[in-house]
Parts: sequence; C-alpha cells; structure tokens
Amino acid sequence: MAMTTIQQTPVITDFPSITRDRLDILQVNLGYLCNLSCRHCHVNAGPKRTEIMDPDTLNTVISFLKESGVRTLDLTGGAPEMHPQFRFLVMAASALGVTVIDRCNLVILEEPGQEDLAAFLADHDVEITASLPCYLEDNVNAQRGKGVFNHSINALQKLNKLGYGQAHNNRTLNLVFNPQGPTLPPEQSALESAYKKHLKEHFNIIFNQLFVVTNMPINRFRNGLEHQGQLTPYLDLLKAHYRHDNLNSLMCKNTLSVDWQGFLYDCDFNQMLKLPLGAAHQSPCHITDINLEALTQQPITVDEHCFGCTAGQGSSCGGALK
Ligand code: SF4
Ligand code: SF4
Repeated sequence: MAMTTIQQTPVITDFPSITRDRLDILQVNLGYLCNLSCRHCHVNAGPKRTEIMDPDTLNTVISFLKESGVRTLDLTGGAPEMHPQFRFLVMAASALGVTVIDRCNLVILEEPGQEDLAAFLADHDVEITASLPCYLEDNVNAQRGKGVFNHSINALQKLNKLGYGQAHNNRTLNLVFNPQGPTLPPEQSALESAYKKHLKEHFNIIFNQLFVVTNMPINRFRNGLEHQGQLTPYLDLLKAHYRHDNLNSLMCKNTLSVDWQGFLYDCDFNQMLKLPLGAAHQSPCHITDINLEALTQQPITVDEHCFGCTAGQGSSCGGALK
C-alpha cells in the first residue's frame, strides 16, 4: 500500500467538537490531473499532476459500495473524467443502484477525445455538479482561464439537449458558484434565480439547482490571500459569521472522503490538508480497513478552516446548509 504523509501536530482550534452520523455519501477523489488550473482550486490540480487512483484501490471502492450499502458515490478530482477507469467505475456503481455524482468542470466535455462523454453520463443518469463561478464571461475567465466561459456554455447547451436540467427526469444538472475573492457568498436562492434568468435569456440554458459555496482558506486560495495580506481579515470574517445551527448539517457528518491512494478523511478539505480521519487517530486510515460501526459517532477532525463551512448560510459540496 502506498504511504501518505499525515499532519502529525495535534489540532488546536476553538472550532467546536463534532462527531460523525451515519455514512450516506462516499466522496472519492480520483486524482489531481485536470485540464484546467483554476485560481481558487483547493486541490492545486492541473494538467501536469500525475497522481491518480490505481486499479486495485478503485476496485476496493467498488467492493466497499457493495458491502456498505452506501447509496451515493460523489466523484471528484482534478477532472475525474480524465481517470482512465472513470467510465468503468461509473458503470459498476450504477449496476449496484448507487447514485453517481460527477463534479465536472464542463470544459472537459469539450476536450478532444471526450466528444462522447456527455452522452455516456446521460446514459447512466450520472448527476452532474458543474462549477460556473459566475454567469458573466469576464469573471469566469479571470478565475478559471481564458475561453473557459464559452466552453462551459457550449457544454451546458449540450447537456440540456441530452435532457439534463429538466425538472421531470433523472438527469440532474446543478451548478456551483463561489465568490471571486475573500467575501462570503450571497444568499443562495436569490442568486439561483438570477443565474436561471440570465442563462435562460442569454443562452437558453436550464439547470436544476445552484449550490453556493464559500471559498475555503486553504491551498491555492489561501496562498493568494496571504500574498495580498488578506488572510487574517478573511479568517476573521468567517469567524465573525459563525452560526452554531449549521453544525448539525455539515457535510462531514454523513460523508467520507477518500483520496487517490485510498486513505480516508472527514472531508475533501481535510484530505487536502492531510488531517487524518478521527481526531483521536494519528495514523492514516485506509479504505481497506474501514469499520463502519466505529465510524458512527467518531470525532471529526476540525481546524480553523472549518469556520468556512459554518459562516453565514453555511457551505458544503451541496451548497448552503439547510
Ligand atoms: S476544474 Fe476544479 S479541480 Fe480542475 S483546477 Fe479547476 S477547481 Fe481545480
Ligand atoms: S472543513 Fe467543513 S466539512 Fe470538513 S471537517 Fe471542517 S466543518 Fe467538516
């Protein structure tokens, strides 16, 4: 088994202690390879990254789905679709009746060699959660790279033609918004209405829901803030907007995050920070060793970045917290 480096220093934070509930969602990071290199990327993904999940680990993920009864597989990366066994994994999970979510950057649907990807996703009723950090071209290109906006629009139109985004079928298309800079995101339902109106009027695009997420003060985004002298004010902003009633809906309560080597974390952000699963553990836990019973009520590893999930309306991979 490949080794991973874990954070050895005990975490000291004034974020409250929280524990896990029942596991509902397995979120699997297939690797850091991506066709884009976005400014806000908390994974530092890009076209030159070589870390991807090996076939044995991928098969262990499928076995775990079979044995655990977990009903949702949430695939992330990088661009998960660039993994050579992405389609194999989707087909295996679908055959088990597991709902598959693809965290898609949209541009991948327009890349050479991926012309049939959208149809593949539609055929397997894969739920698409796609980042579109703004509905205005200049803002998207500034954050994600030149030309990304037009490619994203083309990809969304292609998905609509395949039936994605309609209220009455299983082809769910959700979009993700995150602020451009160190501010809290606007109220989710108001922004969703604005997105729906603009995309329909200008591009004849429809989608199901908008997920509004807070930028987490880690990795590439954190480095940018530090560089601009904005890190401390941003951390203070997150703490000032802490809301206790968000604690029960945090995604780490019912989601388990698996890295490309098969190691487990309470969430994708902890994975990026190498903060191991279970606050009491100081050794990495692997998907081959998972004990579902022990997992329930296990303490969640928290640190200062967690205030990003509890600020204001709250934030998760599914947007604002309910
Ligand atoms: S598309 Fe996603 S994974 Fe790829 S660089 Fe952008 S934010 Fe990171
Ligand atoms: S970053 Fe958010 S999801 Fe992750 S452990 Fe902290 S509160 Fe939970």
